[in-house]
Amino acid sequence: MAKQKMTQHSAERARVRMHAERSVPERAEEFLAQGKVGHVGFTVDGQPYVIPFSYHYDAGHPRRLLLHGSTASRALLQLADGAPVCVTVTMLDGLVYSRTALYHSMNYRSVVCFGRARVVATRAEKRALFEAMILRYFAGRTAGRDYDAIPDEHLDSTTLLEVHIEEMSAKLREGGPKGPRDANQDAPGTCGVVELRDE
Ligand SMILES: Cc1cc2nc3c(=O)[nH]c(=O)nc-3n(C[C@H](O)[C@H](O)[C@H](O)COP(=O)(O)OP(=O)(O)OC[C@H]3O[C@@H](n4cnc5c(N)ncnc54)[C@H](O)[C@@H]3O)c2cc1C
Repeated sequence: MAKQKMTQHSAERARVRMHAERSVPERAEEFLAQGKVGHVGFTVDGQPYVIPFSYHYDAGHPRRLLLHGSTASRALLQLADGAPVCVTVTMLDGLVYSRTALYHSMNYRSVVCFGRARVVATRAEKRALFEAMILRYFAGRTAGRDYDAIPDEHLDSTTLLEVHIEEMSAKLREGGPKGPRDANQDAPGTCGVVELRDE
Protein backbone atom coordinates (compact mmCIF):
# COMPACT_ATOMS: atom_id res chain seq x y z
CA MET A 1 0.00 0.00 0.00
CA ALA A 2 2.78 2.40 1.00
CA LYS A 3 4.63 1.57 -2.22
CA GLN A 4 1.53 2.24 -4.32
CA LYS A 5 1.08 5.64 -2.63
CA MET A 6 4.67 6.58 -3.36
CA THR A 7 4.33 5.67 -7.03
CA GLN A 8 1.20 7.78 -7.39
CA HIS A 9 2.95 10.72 -5.72
CA SER A 10 5.97 10.33 -8.01
CA ALA A 11 3.92 10.39 -11.21
CA GLU A 12 1.92 13.34 -9.92
CA ARG A 13 4.95 15.55 -9.29
CA ALA A 14 5.86 15.53 -13.00
CA ARG A 15 2.36 16.23 -14.34
CA VAL A 16 2.09 19.58 -16.15
CA ARG A 17 -1.06 21.30 -14.89
CA MET A 18 -0.73 24.93 -16.05
CA HIS A 19 -1.06 25.18 -19.85
CA ALA A 20 -1.19 21.40 -20.16
CA GLU A 21 -1.42 21.87 -23.95
CA ARG A 22 2.25 22.96 -23.83
CA SER A 23 3.29 19.64 -22.29
CA VAL A 24 5.61 17.74 -24.66
CA PRO A 25 6.96 14.77 -22.67
CA GLU A 26 8.06 13.07 -25.89
CA ARG A 27 10.59 15.91 -26.43
CA ALA A 28 12.23 15.82 -22.98
CA GLU A 29 15.28 13.89 -24.19
CA GLU A 30 15.77 16.22 -27.16
CA PHE A 31 15.64 19.28 -24.90
CA LEU A 32 18.07 17.77 -22.37
CA ALA A 33 20.49 17.03 -25.20
CA GLN A 34 20.21 20.67 -26.39
CA GLY A 35 20.49 22.39 -22.99
CA LYS A 36 23.66 23.89 -21.55
CA VAL A 37 22.87 24.78 -17.92
CA GLY A 38 20.96 22.76 -15.33
CA HIS A 39 19.56 24.41 -12.21
CA VAL A 40 19.99 21.82 -9.46
CA GLY A 41 17.49 21.97 -6.59
CA PHE A 42 17.80 20.20 -3.25
CA THR A 43 16.95 20.90 0.39
CA VAL A 44 19.22 20.91 3.44
CA ASP A 45 17.43 20.99 6.82
CA GLY A 46 14.29 22.31 5.15
CA GLN A 47 16.13 25.12 3.32
CA PRO A 48 15.77 24.88 -0.49
CA TYR A 49 18.81 25.64 -2.68
CA VAL A 50 18.94 25.96 -6.46
CA ILE A 51 22.47 26.03 -7.88
CA PRO A 52 23.45 26.32 -11.58
CA PHE A 53 25.64 23.59 -13.07
CA SER A 54 26.88 22.46 -16.43
CA TYR A 55 25.78 18.88 -17.10
CA HIS A 56 26.22 15.96 -19.44
CA TYR A 57 23.36 14.18 -21.16
CA ASP A 58 23.39 11.48 -23.79
CA ALA A 59 20.10 10.41 -25.39
CA GLY A 60 21.57 6.88 -25.57
CA HIS A 61 21.13 6.81 -21.76
CA PRO A 62 17.84 8.70 -21.49
CA ARG A 63 17.41 8.29 -17.73
CA ARG A 64 20.91 9.52 -16.83
CA LEU A 65 22.11 13.09 -16.27
CA LEU A 66 25.65 13.78 -15.06
CA LEU A 67 26.88 16.57 -12.78
CA HIS A 68 30.44 17.27 -11.78
CA GLY A 69 32.45 19.60 -9.58
CA SER A 70 34.98 19.88 -6.80
CA THR A 71 35.05 17.09 -4.22
CA ALA A 72 34.39 19.93 -1.72
CA SER A 73 31.17 21.09 -3.44
CA ARG A 74 28.42 21.32 -0.86
CA ALA A 75 25.74 20.68 -3.49
CA LEU A 76 27.44 17.55 -4.79
CA LEU A 77 28.14 16.23 -1.27
CA GLN A 78 24.44 16.52 -0.46
CA LEU A 79 23.42 14.70 -3.62
CA ALA A 80 26.07 12.02 -3.17
CA ASP A 81 24.37 11.24 0.14
CA GLY A 82 21.22 10.27 -1.78
CA ALA A 83 19.22 13.47 -1.22
CA PRO A 84 16.29 13.83 -3.65
CA VAL A 85 17.19 16.22 -6.45
CA CYS A 86 15.33 18.24 -9.05
CA VAL A 87 17.22 19.46 -12.13
CA THR A 88 15.62 22.06 -14.42
CA VAL A 89 16.98 22.89 -17.87
CA THR A 90 15.60 25.94 -19.69
CA MET A 91 16.28 27.39 -23.12
CA LEU A 92 14.88 30.86 -23.74
CA ASP A 93 13.84 31.10 -27.39
CA GLY A 94 12.02 34.42 -27.62
CA LEU A 95 10.44 37.41 -25.88
CA VAL A 96 6.80 37.75 -26.83
CA TYR A 97 5.11 41.17 -26.75
CA SER A 98 1.42 41.82 -27.06
CA ARG A 99 -1.03 44.69 -27.43
CA THR A 100 -2.36 43.60 -24.03
CA ALA A 101 -0.10 43.66 -20.94
CA LEU A 102 -1.44 40.32 -19.69
CA TYR A 103 -0.38 38.52 -22.87
CA HIS A 104 3.33 39.41 -22.79
CA SER A 105 5.15 36.10 -22.60
CA MET A 106 8.28 34.08 -23.46
CA ASN A 107 9.00 31.26 -25.87
CA TYR A 108 10.94 28.44 -24.29
CA ARG A 109 11.89 24.77 -24.18
CA SER A 110 12.25 23.38 -20.68
CA VAL A 111 12.55 20.13 -18.77
CA VAL A 112 12.13 19.33 -15.09
CA CYS A 113 13.76 16.08 -13.88
CA PHE A 114 13.28 14.37 -10.51
CA GLY A 115 15.68 11.75 -9.24
CA ARG A 116 18.51 10.67 -7.01
CA ALA A 117 22.24 10.55 -7.61
CA ARG A 118 25.07 8.08 -7.18
CA VAL A 119 28.80 8.69 -7.33
CA VAL A 120 30.63 7.50 -10.45
CA ALA A 121 33.71 6.00 -8.86
CA THR A 122 35.96 4.33 -11.39
CA ARG A 123 38.60 6.38 -13.17
CA ALA A 124 37.91 4.70 -16.51
CA GLU A 125 34.22 5.56 -16.36
CA LYS A 126 34.92 9.12 -15.20
CA ARG A 127 37.51 9.70 -17.93
CA ALA A 128 35.15 8.46 -20.66
CA LEU A 129 32.26 10.57 -19.36
CA PHE A 130 34.34 13.76 -18.99
CA GLU A 131 35.60 13.34 -22.54
CA ALA A 132 32.02 12.85 -23.73
CA MET A 133 30.90 15.92 -21.77
CA ILE A 134 33.59 18.12 -23.34
CA LEU A 135 32.50 16.83 -26.75
CA ARG A 136 28.89 17.76 -26.02
CA TYR A 137 29.84 21.37 -25.36
CA PHE A 138 32.61 21.61 -27.98
CA ALA A 139 31.81 19.53 -31.07
CA GLY A 140 34.79 17.49 -32.26
CA ARG A 141 37.06 18.38 -29.32
CA THR A 142 39.19 15.31 -28.65
CA ALA A 143 41.48 14.20 -25.78
CA GLY A 144 45.11 13.72 -26.82
CA ARG A 145 44.69 16.03 -29.82
CA ASP A 146 42.93 19.23 -28.69
CA TYR A 147 43.69 18.90 -24.98
CA ASP A 148 45.91 16.69 -22.82
CA ALA A 149 44.67 13.28 -21.75
CA ILE A 150 42.99 13.71 -18.35
CA PRO A 151 45.49 12.81 -15.59
CA ASP A 152 44.42 10.60 -12.67
CA GLU A 153 44.88 13.41 -10.13
CA HIS A 154 42.34 15.58 -11.96
CA LEU A 155 39.87 12.69 -11.98
CA ASP A 156 40.45 12.13 -8.26
CA SER A 157 39.92 15.78 -7.34
CA THR A 158 36.60 15.96 -9.22
CA THR A 159 33.33 14.41 -8.16
CA LEU A 160 31.14 12.98 -10.90
CA LEU A 161 27.53 12.21 -10.06
CA GLU A 162 25.05 10.28 -12.11
CA VAL A 163 21.49 11.45 -11.47
CA HIS A 164 19.04 8.65 -12.16
CA ILE A 165 15.96 10.40 -13.60
CA GLU A 166 12.88 8.86 -12.02
CA GLU A 167 10.39 11.16 -13.73
CA MET A 168 10.61 14.14 -16.02
CA SER A 169 8.33 16.57 -17.79
CA ALA A 170 8.92 18.85 -20.76
CA LYS A 171 7.13 22.01 -21.78
CA LEU A 172 7.28 24.18 -24.89
CA ARG A 173 5.94 27.59 -25.80
CA GLU A 174 6.35 28.78 -29.36
CA GLY A 175 4.74 31.23 -31.75
CA GLY A 176 3.45 34.77 -31.40
CA PRO A 177 1.41 36.68 -28.82
CA LYS A 178 -2.08 35.40 -28.12
CA GLY A 179 -3.78 38.60 -26.93
CA PRO A 180 -7.34 39.38 -28.05
CA ARG A 181 -6.19 42.20 -30.41
CA ASP A 182 -2.85 40.76 -31.57
CA ALA A 183 -4.26 39.30 -34.80
CA ASN A 184 -5.75 42.67 -35.76
CA GLN A 185 -3.15 44.63 -37.74
CA ASP A 186 -5.24 47.80 -37.47
CA ALA A 187 -5.49 47.77 -33.66
CA PRO A 188 -3.44 50.38 -31.76
CA GLY A 189 -0.14 49.32 -30.20
CA THR A 190 2.43 46.77 -31.36
CA CYS A 191 3.02 43.05 -30.97
CA GLY A 192 5.55 40.43 -32.05
CA VAL A 193 8.45 38.24 -30.95
CA VAL A 194 12.08 39.13 -30.23
CA GLU A 195 13.76 35.93 -31.43
CA LEU A 196 16.55 34.69 -29.16
CA ARG A 197 17.02 31.12 -30.33
CA ASP A 198 20.60 30.61 -31.49
CA GLU A 199 20.50 27.00 -32.79
C1 LIG B 1 26.54 28.50 -15.90
C2 LIG B 1 27.21 27.87 -14.69
C3 LIG B 1 27.71 26.58 -14.78
C4 LIG B 1 28.36 26.01 -13.68
N1 LIG B 1 28.81 24.72 -13.77
C5 LIG B 1 29.37 24.13 -12.69
C6 LIG B 1 29.76 22.77 -12.75
O1 LIG B 1 29.58 22.06 -13.76
N2 LIG B 1 30.34 22.24 -11.64
C7 LIG B 1 30.51 22.97 -10.50
O2 LIG B 1 31.02 22.43 -9.50
N3 LIG B 1 30.13 24.24 -10.42
C8 LIG B 1 29.57 24.85 -11.49
N4 LIG B 1 29.16 26.15 -11.40
C9 LIG B 1 29.35 26.85 -10.12
C10 LIG B 1 28.24 26.42 -9.17
O3 LIG B 1 27.06 27.17 -9.45
C11 LIG B 1 28.58 26.57 -7.66
O4 LIG B 1 28.99 27.91 -7.41
C12 LIG B 1 29.70 25.62 -7.24
O5 LIG B 1 29.43 24.31 -7.69
C13 LIG B 1 29.82 25.58 -5.73
O6 LIG B 1 28.71 24.88 -5.23
P1 LIG B 1 28.56 24.69 -3.67
O7 LIG B 1 27.25 24.03 -3.37
O8 LIG B 1 29.78 24.02 -3.11
O9 LIG B 1 28.53 26.20 -3.23
P2 LIG B 1 28.67 26.86 -1.83
O10 LIG B 1 29.74 27.90 -1.96
O11 LIG B 1 28.74 25.86 -0.71
O12 LIG B 1 27.24 27.55 -1.75
C14 LIG B 1 26.98 28.43 -0.67
C15 LIG B 1 26.09 29.54 -1.15
O13 LIG B 1 26.82 30.28 -2.14
C16 LIG B 1 25.91 30.81 -3.09
N5 LIG B 1 26.25 30.31 -4.44
C17 LIG B 1 26.82 29.12 -4.79
N6 LIG B 1 26.94 29.05 -6.13
C18 LIG B 1 26.45 30.21 -6.62
C19 LIG B 1 26.31 30.73 -7.93
N7 LIG B 1 26.67 30.02 -9.03
N8 LIG B 1 25.75 31.94 -8.09
C20 LIG B 1 25.36 32.67 -7.00
N9 LIG B 1 25.49 32.23 -5.74
C21 LIG B 1 26.02 31.01 -5.55
C22 LIG B 1 24.52 30.33 -2.69
O14 LIG B 1 23.92 31.31 -1.90
C23 LIG B 1 24.82 29.10 -1.86
O15 LIG B 1 23.79 28.78 -0.97
C24 LIG B 1 28.51 26.75 -12.47
C25 LIG B 1 27.98 28.03 -12.38
C26 LIG B 1 27.33 28.59 -13.47
C27 LIG B 1 26.74 29.99 -13.34
